[in-house]
Amino acid sequence: MNPVISSLRPDTWRIDDGGVRFFLLCGTERALLIDSGMTVTGAREIVGELTSLPLSLLNTHADRDHTGSNEEFESFYMHPDEEPLYRRSGKSGRILPVRGGDVIDLGSRPLTVVELPGHTPGSIGIYDAVNRVLISGDPIQQNGNIFMFGDHRSLPRYVESLKNLLPMLDQIDEIWPSHADLPVPPSVVPVLIEKTEALLRGEIAGEPFEMHGRTVLRADLGVTGMLVE
Ligand SMILES: [Zn+2]
Repeated sequence: MNPVISSLRPDTWRIDDGGVRFFLLCGTERALLIDSGMTVTGAREIVGELTSLPLSLLNTHADRDHTGSNEEFESFYMHPDEEPLYRRSGKSGRILPVRGGDVIDLGSRPLTVVELPGHTPGSIGIYDAVNRVLISGDPIQQNGNIFMFGDHRSLPRYVESLKNLLPMLDQIDEIWPSHADLPVPPSVVPVLIEKTEALLRGEIAGEPFEMHGRTVLRADLGVTGMLVE
């Protein structure tokens, strides 16, 4: 399937690649690709049609559907806690470690790293202050299925991450996730916290759900589904 490119803001694009999307943000001096696709292995060529600025890559996390074209880049920004997951997929490249609060300035467009561990140990989001947008990766979704089954997920850390986000919600107009609806209003975050805590207390039961050849449980969190063991 060919990826579908559309503009979200000036100098800002979403690139939809099947069930996942990735983003291209440009400043006055540099461009940043946020994730590198699922089925595509030629993200650089796609980006080349949109900008001629020097290009860097950042991964919100290391799951395979976010790292399709990573090997086109010698190095890329990623939280260091993602390294074991990334190497497990057999991929190469040098990780430029980023942590919460780090700023990547594209030129008149500072992007701040926000830590959102839980879905994976080093999941991060990117806050674009100029546009008041949080590019969130997988932890925040609406009308999707947040994957929380598998050995590198943690529901308690997930809840903690979302709680850490609460003080900055009034600086966010829109959340742009990698899957399902876009945009998502910041008001889904308190709902996700409340429902995930209810799930942890056993007050929400999941329904059997077929995923990648195995049966997991799909919990209805009101604003989205969550897939758990
Ligand atoms: Zn994903």
